[in-house]
Amino acid sequence: MLHRLFARATPPVDADAWARLRALSPLLRTFEGDEATRLRERANGFLKAKGIDAARDAPVGDFERQLIAAFAAIPVLELGLGWYGGWHGVIVYPDEFVAPHAFHDEAGVAHEGERVLAGESWDRGPMILSLADVLGCARGDLLGNVVIHECAHKLDQRNGEANGFPPLPAGMAAHAWTAAWQSAYDDLARRVDAGEETAIDPYAAEEPGEFFAVLSEYFFAEPLVVADEYPGVYEQLRRFYGQDPARRPAPEYPEHEA
Ligand SMILES: [Zn+2]
Repeated sequence: MLHRLFARATPPVDADAWARLRALSPLLRTFEGDEATRLRERANGFLKAKGIDAARDAPVGDFERQLIAAFAAIPVLELGLGWYGGWHGVIVYPDEFVAPHAFHDEAGVAHEGERVLAGESWDRGPMILSLADVLGCARGDLLGNVVIHECAHKLDQRNGEANGFPPLPAGMAAHAWTAAWQSAYDDLARRVDAGEETAIDPYAAEEPGEFFAVLSEYFFAEPLVVADEYPGVYEQLRRFYGQDPARRPAPEYPEHEA
């Protein structure tokens, strides 16, 4: 149990703090005007609702907490912070971390192993992040956004395990959701199996829960990739998140080495 009674509150993302966050992050610079104001409000709500604690001496100060809160605010900008109910906080490691991993191989044999992760979300438990990966994604040195990825898992876990089927907002049809996602998932899995180079990280083809989380990252961080590759999924994400990131200015990331 974390006791926050004696912890100093992180200062809210005021205009100066927002300018510092924008200076680091091409993605945050795509939020302008009224939308930027509301994103800051959501981030400040997140800072009040969730503890963000350092583990293993990770250098986590006000700036890092505000950065994580700003990214976490993006998926719930329109859904509202209530969608993050049922869990309490974020634990930040300095770098990638090793987590126990139980899995079944293709023959159905159970294995206990370990894997190295940049982020992890426990059902009703904490979100765990690697600070090096948060900062790398923020600068655009790394593709995608690990905070948005883990937040997508949290939304997906609202109705059970993360399986790519979160509770849908009113007015969305379950059959349309499943149809769009299944055909896109099958397509990516087939292309990855065939050894094709894909615009979407092949990790997305691991399982439907990862597909939803990775496509949510791209939806916000590289929306045109989703709109081009899987327009049916883009439409479902647009309705789910209540946002149309392709209409924002394109984020200007640094060139990546091929
Ligand atoms: Zn994941």
